[in-house]
Amino acid sequence: MKSNWINLLLTCMSIAVGIANGIRRIDSYAGYQVWRVVPSSIDQLKKLVNIGQVAQLDFWREPTTAGSPATFMVRPDQRNLLDTNLRDIGLEDYEIDLSDVQALITEQMAAITNHRKASRSTQRSVSTFDYSIYHPPSEVYEWMDMVAQEFNETTAKHQIGVTYEGRPIYALIFERESTQARPRIFLDALIHCREWITTASVLFMFKEMLTNPKYSHMMEDVDWYFIPMLNVDGYEETWTGDRLWRKTKSNGPSAECVGTDGNRNWDAFWSIVPGSSPDPCSSIYHGPTAASESEVRNLANYVQSFGDGYFDAYITTHSASQLILYPYIYKENEISEDDEALEEAAKLMSDAIRAVHGKEYVYGRGSTTIYPASGSTTDWTYEVAKIVQSHAYELRDTGEYGHLLPPDQIIPNGQEYLEGIRALKDYVLQNFSG
Ligand SMILES: [Zn+2]
Repeated sequence: MKSNWINLLLTCMSIAVGIANGIRRIDSYAGYQVWRVVPSSIDQLKKLVNIGQVAQLDFWREPTTAGSPATFMVRPDQRNLLDTNLRDIGLEDYEIDLSDVQALITEQMAAITNHRKASRSTQRSVSTFDYSIYHPPSEVYEWMDMVAQEFNETTAKHQIGVTYEGRPIYALIFERESTQARPRIFLDALIHCREWITTASVLFMFKEMLTNPKYSHMMEDVDWYFIPMLNVDGYEETWTGDRLWRKTKSNGPSAECVGTDGNRNWDAFWSIVPGSSPDPCSSIYHGPTAASESEVRNLANYVQSFGDGYFDAYITTHSASQLILYPYIYKENEISEDDEALEEAAKLMSDAIRAVHGKEYVYGRGSTTIYPASGSTTDWTYEVAKIVQSHAYELRDTGEYGHLLPPDQIIPNGQEYLEGIRALKDYVLQNFSG
């Protein structure tokens, strides 16, 4: 009874706070903090997830298991209520990882600007492009042009559509001429635009595959399709306005709450609550209709234009939390008929990643490993596009810096991503029947 009463109270209070301070464009994160808690039991973990849902907490490390830390960002006006909420569930021993998020953003942007000024003159080819720094949309577009020109015999660049604000979305395709059928792997990055490490990692990975003889077998063994920068509108926003913007930019600037969560907008188990939210101000808003977002609709149409099951694997790339998640993601205890094969491949990827720098990537069904998310890319690629090996990666870190991962971790993270994908390629190749 008591917990029901507390839940009701929490819901009412958070709705009140949500209306006053919904997820809107934020120019400054002054006074925002990142807190760390370690739930010690399943019960505490579930209560934390519940608090997260009603208070619309922005987790930087998702709550996974009892004994594992979770981190989340706290608005200045949320502190007192959250402190009380955490005390109520016995988590009063939280730590403050970051005392001022804006201070870190300002410091990182200054360092990135200085570094980019110094390295700009060397960014002239795929091999001399600076992979140790984050690049704004214009430079990612330039990189795609360079790849298409320098490797024009094996590479094609397709425009799959435009974003809400009219920016082109491109896919790069690497194919070898072959008389035999070959496996095909599809990857995307940056559906959540603040997750800068995702684009930085796929750029690094493909540079290695194109220019490092150690990884040329990856190009020889399978065909690759990838979209390095999906939510370009949002990415522009993170460079010029709100660094931690997550959603698309649909609805236009006059709407009170802009954008939809692209990873809740796919036409697979769409709008099932609590895996998404009907509230346009929520960071997990599922949109007015399934595939309402240009970015999602164009990508879905592109994948489907090849036919069901055309691809052997699909990886959608996110950060942060160091996870590999596979279907089903929309509902707890929903087990797919390919569960064993998915777990087998996920374990191989996690092992391969650990072997690089010792980083631990937890893997499992999305709904049980973190919490249910409906309308996700991964459930759609599995359920609708019939791509058995469908996984979502959550790259570094485990919540320390979250989406503000320092640039000196780009290359080590990229090396891990590369080895994880190489393991997937090996698995797909071994199990390929043509
Ligand atoms: Zn994400």
